[in-house]
Amino acid sequence: MKSLKTEYDAIVVGSGPGGASVARDLSRRGKKVLILEWGDNDPLKGKVTQIIPRAFTPGKSISFTPQMLGVIRAITTGGSSVIYCATAFDPPLEMLKKYGVDISAEAAEVREDVPIGPLSDTLMAAGPRHFLESAQALGYDAHRLNKFIFQDKCRTNCQLCSYGCPHGAKWSARNFVDEALENGAEMINFAKVEKVLVENRAAIGVEYRHEKETFQAYGSKIVIAAGGIGSPLILRQSGIPGTGYNFFFDPLVFVYGRIKGLGSGKAVPMSAGVHFPDDGIVMTDFNMPHLMKILFDLEVLKVRKAFAYTDVLPIMIKVRDDLSGEITKRGWVRKSLGRQDKLRLEKGADHARRILSNAGATDIYRGWMFGAHPGGTVKIGEHLDADLKTVFDNLYVCDCSVIPEEWGLPPTWTLLSLGRRLAKHLVAEDKVSGKTGFQPVVVMPENEESQELRTGSM
Ligand SMILES: Cc1cc2nc3c(=O)[nH]c(=O)nc-3n(C[C@H](O)[C@H](O)[C@H](O)COP(=O)(O)OP(=O)(O)OC[C@H]3O[C@@H](n4cnc5c(N)ncnc54)[C@H](O)[C@@H]3O)c2cc1C
Repeated sequence: MKSLKTEYDAIVVGSGPGGASVARDLSRRGKKVLILEWGDNDPLKGKVTQIIPRAFTPGKSISFTPQMLGVIRAITTGGSSVIYCATAFDPPLEMLKKYGVDISAEAAEVREDVPIGPLSDTLMAAGPRHFLESAQALGYDAHRLNKFIFQDKCRTNCQLCSYGCPHGAKWSARNFVDEALENGAEMINFAKVEKVLVENRAAIGVEYRHEKETFQAYGSKIVIAAGGIGSPLILRQSGIPGTGYNFFFDPLVFVYGRIKGLGSGKAVPMSAGVHFPDDGIVMTDFNMPHLMKILFDLEVLKVRKAFAYTDVLPIMIKVRDDLSGEITKRGWVRKSLGRQDKLRLEKGADHARRILSNAGATDIYRGWMFGAHPGGTVKIGEHLDADLKTVFDNLYVCDCSVIPEEWGLPPTWTLLSLGRRLAKHLVAEDKVSGKTGFQPVVVMPENEESQELRTGSM
């Protein structure tokens, strides 16, 4: 076992939107931050060969439920935001307020801090336009969706959002990680945290595997941000049982149709959408890279359709699923969709068929299901207090796992706001306890004396 020599103000585990946001804000305030990230930090190339090992490795980044529904996350710096569609849905302010969590100020700050806005006319491709116009003509409340995109860098006729935008146009949590590193934070990649080190019911550090060795790192505050699947696993190993049950993953399904003359299948996905809050359904256009479409078509044995790409308009239906299920010890998602969940998906698919037919589509068919937002595994109000603190002092959680209720909408704006709020709270706590920012650097050779030095028991 090896120990890092520095004692950090904060150790952040995971660099997705939740973790990157806390790390960036703490480092801005002069805190000494260590980010431990299981995945790599290679520059994004927009290549499927780069994304497959990071987002489609069974048992690591893709898990199959008993109904063979694939739940995806990305194991890399920036987490799933590297492959996400960059759609910015407003945080559920009222729902969170019920739990004593008011992020209205932070949500407004995030809006100023990252690019959020609907796509310009130039970037709205033919597919999304047809979806929007057809839905509006049928009386649906369809509109352009807010995107986390630097539009001056975004390109028309490109479909690389899902492969990790190589043009620097799609905002991802990597933008915040880069800023944190510029502010002096450190990051160790390929560091898989296994548990939190706890003494006298207070977190003092973490234990992680890196290059086949076990290390310990010490910090005044520990923030677990390993995502909806990763965080409960770490907490269970650390003496907090009961996490990782009764969660959501926002199941989704695609409905495809062929519109003669539509043209290229390339577009920014989720450019426009319709939300049915009462039904728990959201529906959007969803152009995807051709290879992805081939894989999804083969999953439902549509071999001939798999090779059609030009003129095809895919629509995605995402629903709010009821809370249930278990994250297994090995990180597999064990959850079956209930009757209501399936009805919601079918109702959404009917809306999509109507919109496609009205747009003149033929060859309309439905694909298989996926889940892309595992969350609610370490809930506020059940495992965490309103400051995102666990039962152990100095141990916090900040990622999709903290969402206390099923919700069914893309969560990134909410997670960035929660991260911002947590960073403010941690800084305020430091002030109350009389700490002044940087902590002294403690050299810890690996012997008993250093253990005493660290714990102050000399
Ligand atoms: C295909 C797809 C499209 C999406 N589209 C949208 C969208 O348009 N809009 C939106 O708002 N949301 C979208 N999402 C969801 C969004 O990306 C996630 O909800 C968000 O990234 C979750 O952030 P997080 O901080 O909870 O965790 P994650 O992003 O999952 O990050 C967790 C990080 O922790 C690391 N990690 C895990 N375990 C460990 C460990 N033991 N030790 C160290 N590190 C660990 C992971 O490698 C990862 O970097 C999409 C997701 C997918 C998969």
